[in-house]
Amino acid sequence: MKKLTLLLLITMTISCSKKEKVDIIIINATIYTVNDNFDKAEAFAVKDGKIIDVGTTSIIQSKYASTFINDVQGKTVVPGLIDAHCHFYGLGLQQQKVDLTGTKSFDEVIQKIVDFQKEKNVSYITGRGWDQNDWKIKEFPSNEKLNKLFPNTPISIRRIDGHALLANQAAIDLAGVTINTPFSGGEIHQKNGKLTGLFIDNPMELIESEIPKPSKSEQIQALKDAEKISISHGLTTVDDAGLSREIIELIDSLHLAGDLKIRIYAMVSNTPKDVDYYLSKGIVKTNRLNVRSIKVYGDGALGSRGAAMKEPYSDKHNHYGAILSTPEEYMNIAKQIAASDYQMNSHAIGDSANYLMLKTYKDVLKEKKDRRWRIEHAQILDPEDFKYFDNILPSIQPTHATSDMYWAKDRIGVERMKGAYAYKDLLNNYGKVALGTDFPIERVSPFLTFYAAVARKDLNNYPENGFQMENALTREETLKGMTIWAAYSNFEENEKGSIEVGKLADFIILDKNIMKIKVEKIPYIKVKEVYINGERVK
Ligand SMILES: [Zn+2]
Repeated sequence: MKKLTLLLLITMTISCSKKEKVDIIIINATIYTVNDNFDKAEAFAVKDGKIIDVGTTSIIQSKYASTFINDVQGKTVVPGLIDAHCHFYGLGLQQQKVDLTGTKSFDEVIQKIVDFQKEKNVSYITGRGWDQNDWKIKEFPSNEKLNKLFPNTPISIRRIDGHALLANQAAIDLAGVTINTPFSGGEIHQKNGKLTGLFIDNPMELIESEIPKPSKSEQIQALKDAEKISISHGLTTVDDAGLSREIIELIDSLHLAGDLKIRIYAMVSNTPKDVDYYLSKGIVKTNRLNVRSIKVYGDGALGSRGAAMKEPYSDKHNHYGAILSTPEEYMNIAKQIAASDYQMNSHAIGDSANYLMLKTYKDVLKEKKDRRWRIEHAQILDPEDFKYFDNILPSIQPTHATSDMYWAKDRIGVERMKGAYAYKDLLNNYGKVALGTDFPIERVSPFLTFYAAVARKDLNNYPENGFQMENALTREETLKGMTIWAAYSNFEENEKGSIEVGKLADFIILDKNIMKIKVEKIPYIKVKEVYINGERVK
């Protein structure tokens, strides 16, 4: 008996000492690996920022030792989420503006500005979101109180619709505007021969042209603020749909210094200088930054009737929206990009813009395979044109469907709605879709995207049976769209997007099982822990 115990002890010691030391072991988890078979697993081991083994809890525990064993007690683990289309830096800049949406009085507006400045102490205060229709006194405000409180700090705050702004005297003086300043289109309000600070439409530019460009430290703060928000929602990679070289280089330097952890797929904004620079430099790829795409704008948005339609809008006579450049200009930039290793990612909302960009891609790419050129939004398609998505990748934002569903039909009529927000049709044509939000236009949470894709309802359960449910995605398709397919849209499917051996250790732990929970609970899922490169960042 004694001999047996001793033997057992020896074997245990040997097997223990044989265990490979790793950085993290996750055990007792419900893991959706998002591998090719969409397999589930219970455990995995992480070393040097990568996943080195995936399996059952008992096998992983028998093979590996770590000082950090994370027993997640059945919680759900999925790959780190990717937002395939957002404005990450824009979200950060927005944090440096006073958010005045929902204010119930002008006094509340003032209080918010005072609180904001106490915390941020900026040299020029900007903000947006006030709406005098929400106030008891439904009159346009004037700037007297702001002048008293902030005699030396310029303030410029936009109304919710962006078509009016209130400026204090310091901002007016900085812009050199007086009651005699000429302007055309819009209004500059006066009372008793004095400016009240209210500017409507065109003259707003007089004030806003003097708003200083963010300083380096404000740029850095914006990126850090955006990172904090993004990670808190479980995002480990963000595709920023349009950045200048200046910001891309700043991101790279922050990554190198270890001051920014989130991975960024940076689409280069279509300005000739930056495009020439990057196309001649070639792909820029680090462990956390990937620059290999150019963002091009085809048209505007549907809400403001800027989206370019083949036939007139249903609610505005003889109005087609507008293509933003000439077909020749799109052809030229497409040829320039096609001659490089870069990807072309074009914003296209209306059916006319989609057709033009798809045809341009097709004409330029011809037999070139696997260029993964993307259409961003692919919002309204002529049913005839879905077929062009056979080798062009749709990058879509499901919350746009549930934000626009109330009024989109007014803009384009019942018939054209059949090809609108048609995510399943797009998926069926390409075989993959990349999912994103377009934040800060929509809210950051990927769980709202998940819910919109699957349920196609708003948070008030409207419409009861879902909006055009033939175009809903399954939960599996949706999770893939936020992980492996989004990674594919970035040429990164071999390094991220699933929990598999050899992949980067980007993963998140959720409080609920996103694949099983009742659909109406999906928006309220909480992210408990977030890991990037095997490092816990939340
Ligand atoms: Zn966008």
